[in-house]
Amino acid sequence: SASTSPATQDLFTVSSPNVAYSDSEINTKYAYRTTSVTENGDGKFVATPKETLYDFKVDRKIPKTGMMLVGWGGNNGTTVTAGIIANRLGLSWDTREGPRAANYYGSVVMGSTMKLGINAKTAEDVNIPFHKVLPMVHPNDLAIGGWDISGMNLAAAMDRAAVLEPTLKAQIKKQMTEMVPLPSVYYPDFIAANQEDRADNCLSGSKASLEHVEQIRKDIRDFKAKNGLDKVIVQWTANTERFAELVPGVNDTADNLMKAIENGHEEVAPSTIFAVASILEGVPFINGSPQNTFVPGCIELAEKHNSFIGGDDFKSGQTKMKSALVDFLISAGIKLTSIASYNHLGNNDGKNLSSQKQFRSKEISKSNVVDDMVAANNVLYKKGEHPDHTVVIKYMPAVGDNKRALDEYYAEIFMGGHQTISLFNVCEDSLLASPLIIDLVLIAEMMTRIQWKASSTDGAATKEFGNFHSVLSILSYMLKAPLTPPGTPVVNALAKQRGALTNIFRACVGLEPENDMTLEHKLF
Ligand code: NAD
Repeated sequence: SASTSPATQDLFTVSSPNVAYSDSEINTKYAYRTTSVTENGDGKFVATPKETLYDFKVDRKIPKTGMMLVGWGGNNGTTVTAGIIANRLGLSWDTREGPRAANYYGSVVMGSTMKLGINAKTAEDVNIPFHKVLPMVHPNDLAIGGWDISGMNLAAAMDRAAVLEPTLKAQIKKQMTEMVPLPSVYYPDFIAANQEDRADNCLSGSKASLEHVEQIRKDIRDFKAKNGLDKVIVQWTANTERFAELVPGVNDTADNLMKAIENGHEEVAPSTIFAVASILEGVPFINGSPQNTFVPGCIELAEKHNSFIGGDDFKSGQTKMKSALVDFLISAGIKLTSIASYNHLGNNDGKNLSSQKQFRSKEISKSNVVDDMVAANNVLYKKGEHPDHTVVIKYMPAVGDNKRALDEYYAEIFMGGHQTISLFNVCEDSLLASPLIIDLVLIAEMMTRIQWKASSTDGAATKEFGNFHSVLSILSYMLKAPLTPPGTPVVNALAKQRGALTNIFRACVGLEPENDMTLEHKLF
């Protein structure tokens, strides 16, 4: 369980005049180095190294944290809950392939490492678990709750999901039975009509209302009080909704959005009601589905309240491969000319996506994922030039949660030749998504305990300590269509997203960004 003594919880300390530890904080002075480029009239550039000095402050006390899921009774909701309980209890179970034990594979925070540095004696790399770089919450310690429009208890819902082995389910059945989702907000127009028969656990009223916002806020407060929590993170892992229409005067500003909710406007989605409730409650809210929950008015509301939001759409399978593979191809100088992506899946997500408007949300979120990589390579692509890209999703009940993703990457290589790469990716969708749900909670929580101020060498005034921007783009690695602060670029390339996450965490404890120069092995 959570160790609260900073002296025992840290795996390493940083020995540097720029890093100071107190019982409650880590204080760091950090020089952020970038390159400022000016363009001369003759098409040439001048690149000037630039340094900005920041102070970072990390709160060392690991808070008692709760995770509340919207769509708790779904495949992801039940699978992540069962997984955490199994890890907490250290369970193992029999399968036809022999015994299996609980783990956190697929979680960057729990399953990956970071190079701390080089062993002073042996010159070998010293790698530490990602989880140990900053004082992070352990997933085993998360209190879990949430809402679902289906009132089934979590044991029955886990059976309905058909993801986990019966020998595991039997061991956690009692605990899962006691977990029952809270009634949720249901506006039938936003999800597929084929979901209606499971909607037996709904708050009254089928359009937006302030009462709904207030009820969700009360649910969050009650959950916090009942479990004695310091912090709660809310995450949408409910069905994919259709896009909300962007209507001037309705969802364009924070004030208009609040008025639209009060007036029961039909373009306010349930997911936006949850986002607004979380923002007003000062609780981070993350959207794991593709729809535009974060209409401009909702983003403005989060900024106004200094509350954290992140989204959109878990990046678990096909798109994760795509954001790694396309990054590799284009940075290898290979000209990708088309991507054809086909999916079929047989879970309830697939059933919902068999409806056109909901499919459209997914299609949009899956479509833009190579834009930044293409735009960055002005050697291969002319301005505005783009590979062909198509995405197809079909509902095939027989394959259940075992989603199939078939991709063809077609590229132009040296001297007019071609390279065709064909991928066939099969795996349980919910077993990929569950560790992402955990990562998103742990990282979002960590970001609530990091503050910064600037004392720049380029003349920027020193400010009071403040939070990171409300829109947590640091979560991009886990998300298909990353939301970024308004007016800032979206990065889809997987390695860059990982680099940002790793190096921001390092900076907070005064460590230089990871670089792979290894000059110490090259300059004999
Ligand atoms: P699921 O259909 O099994 O679960 C969704 C749950 O949400 C259901 O139990 C449903 O009753 C509930 N629900 C619907 N509307 C609700 C509302 N207004 N309030 C509360 N509950 C509501 O789907 P899943 O496989 O768990 O996926 C969940 C979401 O995550 C989907 O939108 C999916 O597109 C998205 N997603 C999943 C993956 C993945 O599983 N690998 C990847 C990316 C995105």
